[in-house]
Amino acid sequence: MQGRIKIKIRIRVKIKIRIKIKIRIKIKIRIKIKIRIKIKIKIKSGGQECPPHTGTCYPIPSQRYFWGLLLPTDPVLVVHGGAWAMPDDMVEAHIRGVKNALAAGWRVLERGGPALDAVEEAVVIMEDDETFDAGRGSFLNRDGRVQLDALIMDGATLRAGGVGCVEHLRNPVRAARKILSESPHVYFVGEGAEKFAAQHGIPLCKNEDLVIPREVERLREYQAEANSHGNELFAPTSDDVTISHDTVGAVALDRDRNIAAATSTGGTLNKAPGRLGDSSLIGCGCYADNLSAAASTTGWGEPIMKLVLAKWTADRIAAGNLPEWAALEAMNYLKQRVNGHGGIIVLNREGQIGIAHNTPRMAWAYKTTKKHEAEIERVS
Ligand code: ASP
Repeated sequence: MQGRIKIKIRIRVKIKIRIKIKIRIKIKIRIKIKIRIKIKIKIKSGGQECPPHTGTCYPIPSQRYFWGLLLPTDPVLVVHGGAWAMPDDMVEAHIRGVKNALAAGWRVLERGGPALDAVEEAVVIMEDDETFDAGRGSFLNRDGRVQLDALIMDGATLRAGGVGCVEHLRNPVRAARKILSESPHVYFVGEGAEKFAAQHGIPLCKNEDLVIPREVERLREYQAEANSHGNELFAPTSDDVTISHDTVGAVALDRDRNIAAATSTGGTLNKAPGRLGDSSLIGCGCYADNLSAAASTTGWGEPIMKLVLAKWTADRIAAGNLPEWAALEAMNYLKQRVNGHGGIIVLNREGQIGIAHNTPRMAWAYKTTKKHEAEIERVS
């Protein structure tokens, strides 16, 4: 369904001027001026209706048109810091975190920097913030270790860089970015990823440097409960929205009309060592293509992976749907098809934004040259 009506008007103006001057000698001057004016008018028909939904979406103003012409691209940045039933006492930290990330990414965009740099900088801030399940402070796996995944993707070139199951990198998105720009490969895991990072100037850290007491306690409590159930493999289920999902992500549009996306995560609590979620997989937790959209997801990874949800959403936008509609439709699809929960941020090349989640809360923030907003929930 299209949200716009396009009317094309063509006006052709021909002006002919002939000047003849006769003095003693004959001078003939002929001036021919042809002017061709093409006017393209796009009339917005009030936007696309949100689908009947099971989640929450946010109607966000999109790029402006002047006499039907899309105005020169102003940068846009959207970030998220996870979607789940965040308790009240964690709301402030999440809002602060996404706002700090927004500020860092925006500094890049406002000086004319690329969307790719903006999403990287925004994600680094959230990886460094212990509030989130990314970088230091992430969930621990079953062995009590932090194992991180991240992906970054450039919508202009479709180049991407991903790392999975890394244990000695404070900012896995930095390593992912190095892979994108300096490797013929797209994805590195474990030791190989860390070796690549070290060879490209990224310092390694100890795994203990990424572990914080809050997470040690959380894992201990969780495993104690599992033992009381007599089940070592006890794991939360994908439809449990009380389990925290604090994965971080960002999507951006720069002045050159390029879009990019990045996602970074510590995965899920008590995950089996070596388990990889959706976040760092192309098209699942992150995707960017100038021809469709940039998207970053959060939520239980297994259902999201099965639907290749970020690409699914981008495809809906390439087919002519508005990002706002596609984001909410993605949440419907996630719930109805695989009973999944989560959230998504999505942005197209025209600066139109979609933010949706089917969990009680999702930490997000966006900024354009005209407006900025940060939210964690909206009662609709
Ligand atoms: N999607 C992440 C994963 O499954 C978790 C999250 O979003 O919080 O690894």
